[in-house]
Amino acid sequence: RSKASGRNQFQFFTADMNAHALERLALENDLHRAIERGEFKLVFQPQFDGSGDIVGTEALLRWQHPQRGLVMPAQFIPVAEETGLIVPIGAWVLERACQQTRAWREAGLKKITVSVNISALQFSQKNLLDLIRRLLAVSHIEPGTLELELTESVLMHDHVATSGLMSELKEMGVRMSIDDFGTGYSSLSYLRSFPISKLKIDQSFVRDLGDGGDGGDAGAITGAIIGLAKNLNMRVIAEGVETAQQASFLRAQCCDEFQGHFFSKPVSAEKLAELLRAG
Ligand code: C2E
Ligand code: MG
Ligand code: MG
Ligand code: MG
Repeated sequence: RSKASGRNQFQFFTADMNAHALERLALENDLHRAIERGEFKLVFQPQFDGSGDIVGTEALLRWQHPQRGLVMPAQFIPVAEETGLIVPIGAWVLERACQQTRAWREAGLKKITVSVNISALQFSQKNLLDLIRRLLAVSHIEPGTLELELTESVLMHDHVATSGLMSELKEMGVRMSIDDFGTGYSSLSYLRSFPISKLKIDQSFVRDLGDGGDGGDAGAITGAIIGLAKNLNMRVIAEGVETAQQASFLRAQCCDEFQGHFFSKPVSAEKLAELLRAG
């Protein structure tokens, strides 16, 4: 009897594991076909300067799945990274972002930067530079309009290759920022050796600024990152700003730009055009 129940437990365990593996496999399969099936779309979160003008936007990927509904990046980007699918998906994102930038310009809208998230694997691809060069040429947008959001893990990867690629991108006029800054392990002396134009303060620090007061430990960290950016001649933007208190606290610390639900959630390309028109 104990032997039998032991076997049952074992079967239950493997069945459970199989269910998880099957679900992942199904997701992976669907992900393979998502580009050709036209299931991806981009939404755009505006970025504001200190006077409340929109100066940029971050392109954020969404997967409109026929059965699952709207799938958020947290649910599929990790799978895309593990399987390497992030390379073609990331190329699609870059292309769409460039096309959209072109469309906004043709509509006579004010020039803003368009930021695209780039995974470490994507950044290590030999043909990334050619891809970007081609997309910029085809869409006729100024290279300075495009900003690549890299994570600290990219900087720590392979210094020679990374700084080589970054120098070429900078020479082309493309900008680079460091996303989720403060959560990785990049050394500060490294930071100085890359052609980075902006630091994005991670939203975990912004969230912990809480309600007013001196901002506590998180306030010390946001202040330090802002100071670091100024000293390195970089711009600095706070992500995940959700309250008026957080915004005014960061403004007092001389943060250059702001992004978060307090200012605007990510919106469709059409809605962003409306916001730009409204001024
Ligand atoms: P991220 O690049 O740090 O993007 C910021 C995330 O914070 C976005 O989540 C955005 O919707 C969310 N957010 C913005 N304002 C607020 C706020 O006030 N409060 C809170 N709680 N959240 C806010 P999203 O769109 O779900 O994207 C999550 C992550 O997925 C991104 O983090 C980025 O790492 C990744 N991702 C998104 N699109 C792409 C893409 O096209 N390529 C790659 N490689 N990664 C992407
Ligand atoms: Mg980002
Ligand atoms: Mg971020
Ligand atoms: Mg993030």
